[in-house]
Amino acid sequence: MMITSRNVYLAVVTVVGLVLVGWGVASLPSFTPSLLFTLLLILAVAAQVTSTSLIGEDVTVEVSTAVSMAVLALYGAIAASLVAALAATVVILNTLRLSWPGWLRALERLGFNLGMVAVSMYVAGTLFELTQGWLGANTILGLIIPWFLAAIINDQMNLWLLIVILHLQNQVKPSTIWHQHKWAIPINVLVMSLGGGVLSFAVTRFDVIGIGIFFLPIVLSAYAFRIYVNQTRRQMERLEDLVAERTDDLKQANIELGELHKTKDAFLAVLTHDMRTPLSSIKAYAGVLGKGNLDEDQQARISRILLRNQDSLLEIVNNILEIEQLQSGTPIELNLVDFDVAYLTALVSENLIAQAEEKNIRLQYEPDPSPIMIHGDREKIKRVLTNLVSNAIKYTESEGTVVVSCESQDDYVVVDVVDTGYGIPEEELPHIFERFRRVKGHRHIAVGTGLGLAIVKSLVEAHQGTIHVTSQEGEGSTFTVRLPLHASQES
Ligand code: ADP
Repeated sequence: MMITSRNVYLAVVTVVGLVLVGWGVASLPSFTPSLLFTLLLILAVAAQVTSTSLIGEDVTVEVSTAVSMAVLALYGAIAASLVAALAATVVILNTLRLSWPGWLRALERLGFNLGMVAVSMYVAGTLFELTQGWLGANTILGLIIPWFLAAIINDQMNLWLLIVILHLQNQVKPSTIWHQHKWAIPINVLVMSLGGGVLSFAVTRFDVIGIGIFFLPIVLSAYAFRIYVNQTRRQMERLEDLVAERTDDLKQANIELGELHKTKDAFLAVLTHDMRTPLSSIKAYAGVLGKGNLDEDQQARISRILLRNQDSLLEIVNNILEIEQLQSGTPIELNLVDFDVAYLTALVSENLIAQAEEKNIRLQYEPDPSPIMIHGDREKIKRVLTNLVSNAIKYTESEGTVVVSCESQDDYVVVDVVDTGYGIPEEELPHIFERFRRVKGHRHIAVGTGLGLAIVKSLVEAHQGTIHVTSQEGEGSTFTVRLPLHASQES
């Protein structure tokens, strides 16, 4: 340990305290009746433990010092000093049990606190005895002044001994500490002088019963206070649980947000990639066209390629616009008319024949011979069918087959789009209608946003219809749309 003014001060206070305690212990036999003394000692400890847990370690209302003051009046300064020191020690031991600062710190704290209260009480006690001797124990002034004087001196000595160590140790300004504690001074002085006076009076008049009169309320209030503290602690724990729970919720929300961001980033990456392919193609062929000297056949072929690429771009843009609208929660506006679904299915298939042929895929349409009329939004249903058939072509190898059929079953029209393509893995099937969802292995097969099927599902459901898929990986898929023949009234 280094020799610093703090350490020297600490050592001096501790040693003086220990000397006083030693002197007190040596004088124990003279403190008679000893039962009374022991009871007062217990009372002091009980009061101190209660008041520290009530207000905290830093500022204590000196209930126990009131007991020491009574001891002072009954047994003298050295007895009071011993009682005060023991009460303080028990409290410090009690707080050390809760938070252990390490051996040296614990000893320092014990020593200093013991010294502080022993010295203060001894000095106050000596002054008490002097003034009482001077004023006489039975005069009115002799009954009042020594008590108040001792209380003030005791309280201030305690405070200043503390201020000095805090100043040496943490360079805290003495005035700051004094201001922090000043509100407690009048309370302490009152409790010490009145409490001490009343207790010593009760003991002189009623002996051990006098302690009971004082002791019982303190024990009861200590008990009530324990219950209160425990309840508060439990409430705090519950609060902490609640906070922990909320923190978990927040963490979960953050994870979800992170996933959403990832999905969005992935979507943007795919999107820019997907838009780049048709755009580069358009750029390249436009360049070829610009050079001129192409025969008509070549020109026609290039213009077909340009148009197809434009269609791809348009589809991507349309999908994004549409999904935005569907996501916004506004109900889908349906432009309801009566139309023939069988004819529409044929038309859509015909429109996509060229696309199928380009991939060498056989696109077959097996129509119901008679018209199937429904009441719905023709453009939207056309979009549904186009999407499904074009997906079937997109996700089928060349030489494969896509069969589209349309028939009425009871009150429904059922459109099947069957392909002999790559199929969808079983674990993906339940999610395939979710937005941005694409089968991993399909990404390099065809451009796409993973929005088409989500839009298709919303549009079908807006018509009170259903969409269903069965698929076998490597063998093909069947998408089945069922639309009610009469149900699509104004929505
Ligand atoms: P995309 O723009 O990617 O085609 P869709 O929402 O239309 O988006 O389809 C989502 C995914 O479902 C596709 O990426 C593909 O993996 C899978 N899929 C859709 N239709 C078929 C099909 N007929 N055969 C196999 N997989 C399909």
